[in-house]
Amino acid sequence: MVDLDKLVEVAKNARNKAYAPYSNYKVGCALLTKNGKIFSGCNIENNGIMSICAERVAFTKAISEGEKEFECLLVLGGKSELIYTSPCGYCRQFISEFCDENFTIYMYYEDGKIVKKTLKELLPDNFELN
Ligand SMILES: [Zn+2]
Repeated sequence: MVDLDKLVEVAKNARNKAYAPYSNYKVGCALLTKNGKIFSGCNIENNGIMSICAERVAFTKAISEGEKEFECLLVLGGKSELIYTSPCGYCRQFISEFCDENFTIYMYYEDGKIVKKTLKELLPDNFELN
């Protein structure tokens, strides 16, 4: 049983650390591993080169700590109020490297609304080298 309240809390705290001086669109996320650890991420923008999204921050933190199996991801974001925010195309493809098509992604917004989708729904035809 996934503790969504806990993931929301972690993602909100991460969002408070977002570095988004250009878009002012702050994103936070919480990545739950299969062994119960939670890794947070926030977006980090950059004036000169491509910014990094909250989702890839969380995954790179987890993977660099040796984690390889992931349960689900919760994402939230917006400029001021939380609005529906789903992973960008780059992140969807990035996630597909580490998670199967049934991996669950929760989008949390407004006052407790949650949309639940699988990676397959968000990325129905991912690129794969074969
Ligand atoms: Zn992204």
